[in-house]
Amino acid sequence: MKFNTKTIHGNQEPDKAYGSVMPPIYQTTTYAQTTPGGHKGYEYSRSANPTRTALENAFASIENGTHAMAFGSGLAAIDAVLKLLKSGDEVISTNDLYGGTYRLFTKIFEGFGIKFHFVGMENASNIEAYINTNTKLIWVETPTNPMMNIIDIKAAALVANKHNILLAVDNTFATPYLQQPLDLGADIVMHSATKYLGGHSDVVMGALVVKDKGLADRLYFIQNASGAVCGPQDSFLVLRGIKTLHIRMQRHCENGKAVAEYLRRHPKIETVYWPGFEDHPNHDIAKAQMKDFGGMVSFTTKGNNYAEAINIVEKLKIFTLAESLGGVESLAGHPASMTHASIPKEAREKTGVVDSLIRLSVGIEDEEDLIADLKQAIG
Ligand SMILES: *Cc1c(COP(=O)(O)O)cnc(C)c1O
Repeated sequence: MKFNTKTIHGNQEPDKAYGSVMPPIYQTTTYAQTTPGGHKGYEYSRSANPTRTALENAFASIENGTHAMAFGSGLAAIDAVLKLLKSGDEVISTNDLYGGTYRLFTKIFEGFGIKFHFVGMENASNIEAYINTNTKLIWVETPTNPMMNIIDIKAAALVANKHNILLAVDNTFATPYLQQPLDLGADIVMHSATKYLGGHSDVVMGALVVKDKGLADRLYFIQNASGAVCGPQDSFLVLRGIKTLHIRMQRHCENGKAVAEYLRRHPKIETVYWPGFEDHPNHDIAKAQMKDFGGMVSFTTKGNNYAEAINIVEKLKIFTLAESLGGVESLAGHPASMTHASIPKEAREKTGVVDSLIRLSVGIEDEEDLIADLKQAIG
């Protein structure tokens, strides 16, 4: 089955009770038993819920995995991966990282004795220097947020496999429409389903997908034992979102390209970060591992003025000034004061998150309206 068909039908079948094409929202905590232990596969909704199962089956299908788990947020999914580790273990992570992931790693898990190395991974050979016998996990985000660096997943997987280290990829920005990390050698794919998978800015959710039963069992144990699951209503909404993922992503990519090209021609713009440009430093890797270049575009203005950047994001009308990304509507954010405010100024500037950086999540509206909005805001 090809990808577009999978988004609609992958691992899905009509509900067994009445043949409903979409699964019912099983709004229940518990399930009647005929005799102790005599049940139909469901006992308690933290452990499993049929609506969540339908969604998890869809997650596994679109990422070409065998098992998937849905969580109450993307960070809850990342939290579950880190709980595979123990005190003394080490993690090598992408340095240009989602701010909340950085906070979870440094403010929570460092306190439990896990050591993190934040490394520029655009050249995968950089990873090798940080590997020792305590290294248990490589954490990759690509494209990175918000600098749009691209990391070669296949090359990272070769390093990870050679040293018997788990490779996890945060696939939130690309989605499986653009790249499928398990096929490129990753062990775990993580999503903030809050973004493109849900796609309508109405659910906070996370997902993990794997292709190995042993690893799935360990993660399922953590999901159930720690309990950060999502509810049946949210599961239904994200399942519905996935069914249009491919057509939404196609339009996100078209509009992203149009916006990136418009900004690049604008005399007040300094740099546009979008992996589709041929002179983007990792364009060749992006071209090789992604089907298209996505709807995320970042840019800086000439003079790198903080107040000017704030002025632009405040003036935008169709682009809503808001955190988050990946919904049908266009959003604009100012990382230095919003998503990346929890990263110390020195650390964030090292990765390129300067004062004038603006990040756009380009939605699926008409391209002409989006460009006219940018034009009136930038001046
Ligand atoms: C939003 C996001 C997360 C965190 O997900 P939540 O659903 O907000 O908990 C992690 N990684 C990336 C790349 C994100 O954009």
